[in-house]
Amino acid sequence: MTERKSVAEKIDFLRKEKNAVILAHNYQIPEVQDIADFTGDSLSLSQMAATTEADVIVFCGVNFMAETASIISPEKKVLIPDLEAGCTLADAITADQLRAWKSEHPGAVVVSYINTTAEVKAESDYCCTSSTAIKVVQSIPEDKEILFLPDMFLGAYAARVTGRKLHIWPGECHVHAGIRTRDLEEMESHHPGAEMIVHPECGCTTSLMYESMNVSANGNGNGNGNGHVKFLSTGGMIKHAVTSDAKEFVIATETGMLHPLRKANPDKTFYPAREDAVCRFMKMITLDKVLKSLEEDIFEVRVPEATARLAKKSIDRMLEITV
Ligand code: SF4
Repeated sequence: MTERKSVAEKIDFLRKEKNAVILAHNYQIPEVQDIADFTGDSLSLSQMAATTEADVIVFCGVNFMAETASIISPEKKVLIPDLEAGCTLADAITADQLRAWKSEHPGAVVVSYINTTAEVKAESDYCCTSSTAIKVVQSIPEDKEILFLPDMFLGAYAARVTGRKLHIWPGECHVHAGIRTRDLEEMESHHPGAEMIVHPECGCTTSLMYESMNVSANGNGNGNGNGHVKFLSTGGMIKHAVTSDAKEFVIATETGMLHPLRKANPDKTFYPAREDAVCRFMKMITLDKVLKSLEEDIFEVRVPEATARLAKKSIDRMLEITV
């Protein structure tokens, strides 16, 4: 009788045979996160993959993340299991639109969130993540104009915390923009002792800060709210939940984040700020698609060398300031 392997076992076999490393973003479905070699946010995953001897990276995330992995590890083959996995935020600005914006502000410094295409990164002076945006903005001389893109909520958050006047591109992630202050207020009324943990991309971020939260002026993504509200990146959420004395948390970001939080904190309780804060692009990747990707070497994402070189400069400039 022939032995029947599960999809997870087949993936494991091919991962070894092809010397592949499997990365899963925190918003991926639990089954995909559970078979990954590394889970985390987009930049940390690409950085972890670069330190491995793997020949192949399978990036379970969205397109700009696979591009970032290719920019950082150009010698490795980068695969994404579904080419349709895009990102509304990364699509909010094209390289042509950025070039036109720059021409209206000659001499301005361009700060781009990591959720951008490789072409947009190549047109930028600095890349930033939600946990480095404040430090990057603070590092830019006061007399320089700053173009911040593409997320208007993160931009407003950075402007508020640093006290700098930023030109902010009006882009948004449809998932995070849908999480509003009233959702948190409702959750707070049901769970009065819970800590509120908010990703700075959320639509509620600016209103929360202006309405009631005392955000410190030197905020650095390590949690800046007063009392029980923290503004944290996805990586920061995990670190904070582990060390916090709180037993209950309301999480304002994509609901996939609850899986790693619950795994790392089995004795604590996590509620989503909104049950429907679900990114359909992130949920496109399934175990069957990961297997097919490994079996057929699909779909390769490779950033042209000249674009990758310029894009990497914007990432390296951020790392020089923040690491
Ligand atoms: S949750 Fe929003 S920012 Fe993240 S991949 Fe989906 S669309 Fe893009």
